[in-house]
Amino acid sequence: MLRGLLSAAPDALVAVNAEGEIVYVNAQAERIFRWARADLVGRPVEQLVPERFAGRHPFLRAGYMAHPTTRPMGAGLELWARRQDGSEFPAEISLSGFTTRAGSLVAAAIRDVTESRRTEYRFRAVLASAPDAIVGVDGEGRIELLNEQTERLFGWTASELLGQKVEVLVPEPALGRHVEHRASYVADPQSRPMGAGLQLAARRKDGSTFPAEISLSAVADEPGSLLVLAAIRDVSERIELAAERQRQALEAQREQSHRLESLGQLAGGVAHDFNNLLGVILNYTALLARNETEPRAAADLGEIRAAAERGASLTRQLLTFARRDVANPEAVDVSDVVRGVSGMLERTLGEDIDLRLDLASEPLVVVADRQQLEQIVLNLAINARDAMPGGGTLTLATSVAAPSEALRPGAGRDAVLRVIDTGVGMTDAVIERAFEPFFTTKPRGQGTGLGLASVYGIVRRNGGDVRIDSAVDEGTIVTVSLRGAEHPSPAGQAHQGASAGGRERILLVEDEVALRDATARILTGNGYDVLVASNGAEALEVFDREATTIDLVVTDIAMPRMRGDELARLLQVRRAGTPVIMMTGYDSGDAPLTGRLLAKPVSEEELLRAVREVFDA
Ligand code: ADP
Ligand code: MG
Repeated sequence: MLRGLLSAAPDALVAVNAEGEIVYVNAQAERIFRWARADLVGRPVEQLVPERFAGRHPFLRAGYMAHPTTRPMGAGLELWARRQDGSEFPAEISLSGFTTRAGSLVAAAIRDVTESRRTEYRFRAVLASAPDAIVGVDGEGRIELLNEQTERLFGWTASELLGQKVEVLVPEPALGRHVEHRASYVADPQSRPMGAGLQLAARRKDGSTFPAEISLSAVADEPGSLLVLAAIRDVSERIELAAERQRQALEAQREQSHRLESLGQLAGGVAHDFNNLLGVILNYTALLARNETEPRAAADLGEIRAAAERGASLTRQLLTFARRDVANPEAVDVSDVVRGVSGMLERTLGEDIDLRLDLASEPLVVVADRQQLEQIVLNLAINARDAMPGGGTLTLATSVAAPSEALRPGAGRDAVLRVIDTGVGMTDAVIERAFEPFFTTKPRGQGTGLGLASVYGIVRRNGGDVRIDSAVDEGTIVTVSLRGAEHPSPAGQAHQGASAGGRERILLVEDEVALRDATARILTGNGYDVLVASNGAEALEVFDREATTIDLVVTDIAMPRMRGDELARLLQVRRAGTPVIMMTGYDSGDAPLTGRLLAKPVSEEELLRAVREVFDA
């Protein structure tokens, strides 16, 4: 029965006497050592020991015989055994000594652990070759395994870490939360990959910390026990790189707006002077045309006037870019503007372009000059059209700025207008210069290079922002962000009154002689009674003399001795409610202006309409 039992044992069993001779082997021993029983029994046990250990083995054996204690398997010793053919295998061996009538014997149970040891070696190789630090933690949070990268990354040795709570790797401020997080993870372990958006920190032995990305997975290696594996990656370098890249982008942006700023100053100065000249040309042309009956001469005058008007529209765009144009900001709904312009666009875009509107359902109120907002939509739509000579889709979209797009986090609701086309797109080099005045890639005579420059000026004036996203052959998205109004209640469109003349008395103040004369003649020609002055101080003298009879003051702003805006202020002190119309080609941006504002050059029609409107109001 005993022999039967022994042959059923899964381990090889070998009994050895005091002399080191094998006295018994079971069937499993024959199998794993590949010896026949007859060739083992009576032979020295060293026959089963690899030759490199065989020399020392008799001493170890004698030592054990002298003090035989039971030694179980898996005592952590890496042992090797030898087969009949001399090959070796890793073995776990348990020993126990006992005495029989035949004397003292030692029984050894030997187990071939080739399989499990291979698995373990592979597992260790995987751990060692992983680029990340890997830490295995049991259900109580104790570190059970780690790789070399962990030692290197955290500055601890493996023996220092094993058995410690994983919290030694967690920075002070996160400690309390970490214990809770660990508990809830253990309760419901789900794999969480790296880059899941979690930005965590880890702590080295010296107390210093570093930003880390951590992935988690859990292995239930036995029922009721859990091993949580954490792979930890130091991402300081990546974060620094990202910060550096962001810094460079900001720097480039600052450089660009600086360049545009100086261009704006230059353009604004030139345009200001040109404006006055064009004003004179336009006014005198109008005066001449009125008395000209000879048809050829009248036609020629028409040409002069048309050219001057084209010039005026160029200088106006330059001034817009320079944010020096005259604007009448009011509360305007951006979607309204888009809706209004789209009607006209339908007709101008042509059949090959599919115009789509994607407008916000809620009001998008900003404070800006309505005409200028229309100008933005128009300029961008025309650029889109030019970019789609073979047709395509043009989308005008408005929306409330998402929190990430907001111009001033936390402030009023900012508006976003997107003009999206499916056209030829732009290279990076073109994007970089697109906002510069006179930058165009279009053939001479087709592009002025002022479209995006004016958009830029209008948007910046509102405190907003404009951005181009585009790639060659992939279309273009121009994103305009505008500051939302603080008190959003859109005003109705200004009504357009008639431009008939009248009999009222007007004080005209203008330092430029030619312009003053021309303007005065236009007003007198339409029935008005006109007094003139060449600057604010002189105007005050006239006003003090004639105050009760003056119905309206029309004044330039930039003048020597006393400016028009200062004059307007003093007039209100002398006689509150005195109507004032100011004309300027250039908004210096210093003082909030009172009264009605007209942009120079002011055409005859504009002037007469404004004057009439003031009186009729
Ligand atoms: P212009 O249209 O007179 O050339 P802009 O200031 O409007 O001047 O535009 C400057 C340049 O930017 C254009 O010449 C063109 O190269 C490029 N551009 C602007 N908008 C677009 C667009 N939607 N698609 C492709 N290129 C564009
Ligand atoms: Mg254009």
